[in-house]
Amino acid sequence: MIEVKQLSHQFELGKKDKKTVIPVLQDVSFSVTKGEIVTLVGRSGSGKSTLLHLIGGFLPRQSGAITINGTDVSNFTEAQFAEFRLGTIGFIFQNFQLIQSMTAYQNVELPLILQGVSETARKIQALETLEKVGLKGFEHHYPSELSGGQQQRVSVARALVLNPLIILADEPTGSLDSETEEDLLHLIKELNDSLDITFLIITHDDEVAKIGHRSLMMHDGALIDQEVK
Ligand code: ADP
Ligand code: MG
Repeated sequence: MIEVKQLSHQFELGKKDKKTVIPVLQDVSFSVTKGEIVTLVGRSGSGKSTLLHLIGGFLPRQSGAITINGTDVSNFTEAQFAEFRLGTIGFIFQNFQLIQSMTAYQNVELPLILQGVSETARKIQALETLEKVGLKGFEHHYPSELSGGQQQRVSVARALVLNPLIILADEPTGSLDSETEEDLLHLIKELNDSLDITFLIITHDDEVAKIGHRSLMMHDGALIDQEVK
């Protein structure tokens, strides 16, 4: 479902005459099969988010190759990637990234609007998805009127509403207390079981890493270990 081959990445800081090059990823190769939950663990600064942003097409690739669901996306333009992402890849972030001026319903409806879905169909799909993540009755709440765990569920619903094959999650439990964290991990497992969604989950938390069928370990921009359970 995801195949990454010899991916390297560096950031350049400073002006022309005084440029510093920061190597962030070095020759990273791995793959994730359909229906797998894979966790990617590693210290802060080891390059995890950069890797996820490259896979999701939010950063221009510098070298190496990325194939998603059989499509080589390595040379996709930003626009091509944006179109490809819809209905293929959903995202969940540590800080939820909900639009504060929109209700839970409106946040979940947004991808459907981008996809050009009719209003009637949008309503059915958004409500169904909110129910799936346990938020029936909270449709008209704004993010500020929801707990952290509920806000993260809204963001899961938003990631889910276009029936993606893959969900990429960057520290999804990073802002949650341990009980809410457990609930979210349970929800992820449930979605993986019932909908066969493939998950790639970044975490620096060993407890979160345990929900993966497999765990990848990142250190200083390189994969150092692959633990198979
Ligand atoms: P992680 O998610 O594992 O904490 P990141 O991928 O966010 O790691 O960052 C890896 C390294 O790349 C860090 O040293 C970080 O400072 C650097 N970095 C990340 N984004 C940028 C950027 N846009 N410009 C410059 N350096 C960056
Ligand atoms: Mg990160």
